[in-house]
Amino acid sequence: MIEIYGLGPAGVAAALFLRKEVVVRDLGKRYLKACGEAVPIDTPLVEDRFVLNKIRRFEFYHEDRFIGEVSYRKPYWYIVDKSSWISSLRERIQIASETERDGERIVIDARGPYSSKGLKITVARVYLRSPRKNIDPETVYFIYRRGAPGFYWVFPHGEDLNVGGGFIGVKNPLPLIHSFISSWLGGGEVIDVRGAPLTVDPEIDLGREGVYRVGEAAGLVYPLTGEGIRPAILSSQALAASLGTRKPLDNYRKAISRIISQIEFQKKLLRIAMRSIERNGSIAELANSSILKDYIEENLSVKTLLIMISRNPPKAVKTLLSILLPTP
Ligand SMILES: Cc1cc2nc3c(=O)[nH]c(=O)nc-3n(C[C@H](O)[C@H](O)[C@H](O)COP(=O)(O)OP(=O)(O)OC[C@H]3O[C@@H](n4cnc5c(N)ncnc54)[C@H](O)[C@@H]3O)c2cc1C
Repeated sequence: MIEIYGLGPAGVAAALFLRKEVVVRDLGKRYLKACGEAVPIDTPLVEDRFVLNKIRRFEFYHEDRFIGEVSYRKPYWYIVDKSSWISSLRERIQIASETERDGERIVIDARGPYSSKGLKITVARVYLRSPRKNIDPETVYFIYRRGAPGFYWVFPHGEDLNVGGGFIGVKNPLPLIHSFISSWLGGGEVIDVRGAPLTVDPEIDLGREGVYRVGEAAGLVYPLTGEGIRPAILSSQALAASLGTRKPLDNYRKAISRIISQIEFQKKLLRIAMRSIERNGSIAELANSSILKDYIEENLSVKTLLIMISRNPPKAVKTLLSILLPTP
């Protein structure tokens, strides 16, 4: 019998991709966790009825200063109503009856940041109505601030906005978010506030034979963007496909090796940024559009860096650090 602990994106995806009856356990009946609710459009299990906004543009700022943008002809991200989406997926799970709960026991840990290993921070979001500043409903905004690695975001959320932020070294980002709302957006009507932990420097652990980890519980979150929904679903899809094979853990690991390498690479960049902050590193250069694109597409690689460095060494390094570590 398969038991799944945690019914966020990873847990529900595991249950649905397994296509069999499972035992599930979660702390809450509805899924209510704080999130930016942004997913790349090719994320499995997303249904149109939960899509609130379609995103084609990404703008990057250092406080008030525009540092770069990436745009696409077609939508690249969706903003979803994550709570309704995940709650609706939960209803499709085939729950095992008491009498069927025998046989070999397989456990899937999908408890997200509540069981992940590695550095976690609190990240919070506010639903905001009627901001003073005009915000394009097809654009998401990332705003970096002085002093601490992390960022604010301004995402559309239907007719409203989802405004949030999280920073390494900041225990409670809410006061910062409220003052950001006043300064950057000119204020607005706060309609809901919620925070949750996020694993920003994850230790990847896929578990062991018989007891597997998926999603954020396995450390599958991109450290530079905090994106965890698609990796959660893809990891569960990969585990479900591997469970019937002779070496499930090896096959699971192989199937998600690209995600793992991107996370490990982003962890190194995060460490560079944190070391640089300790040394009071100062970066004031503009971001380069090709690196910003790789950043959005989870494609940052040594190759990208080498190409940039060979073209323009000081700018390459400054560009990357300006993404990671904006300074005054
Ligand atoms: C404020 C914020 C904004 C974010 N924005 C984005 C974004 O825009 N896009 C994106 O891709 N990612 C974003 N993330 C990350 C993303 O939310 C997670 O990485 C993603 O939801 C991971 O899915 P999961 O199923 O692994 O874990 P979770 O979504 O965390 O689900 C874990 C589940 O486990 C349950 N649980 C916890 N403890 C127990 C227990 N003891 N027993 C049983 N069940 C338990 C919880 O109730 C929850 O339902 C954000 C995170 C935060 C905090």
